[in-house]
Amino acid sequence: MNIEQKIKQLEKAGSSLEPDAEKRSEDTNKVLDHCYRYLDKLSDENAFHGDDTPSKKLLEEPIGESFMNMDDILSVYEESVEGPGINAASGGHLGYIPGGGVYHSALGDYLAAVTNKYAGVYFGAPGAVKMENMLIDWVADLIGYEEGFAGNLTSGGSIANLIGIVTAREAYDLKGKDLENTVIYASPQMHHCLNKAIRIAGLKECKFRNIELDQRHRIDTENLENLIEQDKKKGLNPWLVIASAGTTDVGTVDPMDKIGKVTEKHKLWFHLDAAYGGFFKLCDEAKDILKGMERSDSIVVDPHKGLFLAYGIGAVIVKNKEYLHKAHSYTADYMQDALNNDVELSPADLSPELTKHFRALRMWLPLKSLGIKPFKACVEEKLWLARYFYKEINKIEGYVADTEPDLSVVIFHYKPNDPNSEELNKKIVKKIHEDGRIFISSTRIGGKYSLRVAILSFRTHKREVDILLGMLKDYAKEV
Ligand SMILES: *Cc1c(COP(=O)(O)O)cnc(C)c1O
Repeated sequence: MNIEQKIKQLEKAGSSLEPDAEKRSEDTNKVLDHCYRYLDKLSDENAFHGDDTPSKKLLEEPIGESFMNMDDILSVYEESVEGPGINAASGGHLGYIPGGGVYHSALGDYLAAVTNKYAGVYFGAPGAVKMENMLIDWVADLIGYEEGFAGNLTSGGSIANLIGIVTAREAYDLKGKDLENTVIYASPQMHHCLNKAIRIAGLKECKFRNIELDQRHRIDTENLENLIEQDKKKGLNPWLVIASAGTTDVGTVDPMDKIGKVTEKHKLWFHLDAAYGGFFKLCDEAKDILKGMERSDSIVVDPHKGLFLAYGIGAVIVKNKEYLHKAHSYTADYMQDALNNDVELSPADLSPELTKHFRALRMWLPLKSLGIKPFKACVEEKLWLARYFYKEINKIEGYVADTEPDLSVVIFHYKPNDPNSEELNKKIVKKIHEDGRIFISSTRIGGKYSLRVAILSFRTHKREVDILLGMLKDYAKEV
């Protein structure tokens, strides 16, 4: 066989990678039908399947030369992937931090994948990069950042936080020899992805101070300032304060305005993790509690939580774009055609990624096809649902929820003063998981086992909250 024949033969062997119009439409329609059926029955489905045997069908299909038709693929998917575990698309998902995944986000992903625009560098896709930067502008405006910021759409809150921490490190030009004397201040309620970020960023040798919290688990700013002053007296280098606009565990918002005054006065970097709470800024009802977000130097929000988009999108914004750019840009010879930083900042110069998922489209498409009004309403509905749950749970005999929610997480206990309180509450969680209609998770607050409800799926309405209240009432009797 000569070269030409060999090439022809390989072209033919690989040709199924480009299905013809008929095959394309057949497979696509099967996937669409499956999705429509999935969505149509979603509200009757459980939010949790704890005891299914996961993945059996999947395991029987190793990756190799054999291939399956679309019907079989969908049936493996349904049985092995869709079924077991938490149904994160369900409105009954009230554990961890839900979101739901609005349908139009999936349409954005479909378009992005088919057109496969390269969204890393302005030269490669000016429209895609502009779209991302417009979304960053919109979020920055919502937070209250003015001119001079820059940001990046990431895969989620964890990577967004990592980018924020690395940027703070570069902004203060920290060197290895400085770390022992450099101090980080944070709430014990800080999300654990920030512990990971600090380690990944090579900063674990820094001194770490846990700031005292007030009764509502918010950072005590007087204690923060005392700690900073003590460290200064010791000749240390106070560097970074990390606060949360909505802690994952209890949903409380740190006093950002006051923290901003302290960091400004002492010239520390203020990093704000608003992955959970950031998009509550959309509603007037949360304006007061979220006052001061704009005082941060870097901020993280998570559109796959508070904007209800499908998993895979977070955002970081840094108030001074120079720092974000300095920390994440690098030039390579083979990129010389693409250098045009003056026209528009490129995502590849603002994050560790070069080639990336064109994730702007999964955010832009829902926002542009629906407008922001329904998102505002939905976020506000969650606030009111949490208040409703707080009020109603305290009416059920035996249950106590101490603190009114700042946002949409409520912590509560069954018989908190009973010596068997932990046992009883664990049994209630177990029963809820066995039932499966609603999923909630538990946590420990100050060492004490606590029940926790987090309302943030766009599909969670009064109906789901009422089902949960009914379950809690019934199961309390049973334990
Ligand atoms: C969810 C969350 C994170 C982590 O974000 P991912 O998108 O899960 O990576 C960080 N901080 C807070 C407060 C969160 O709620």
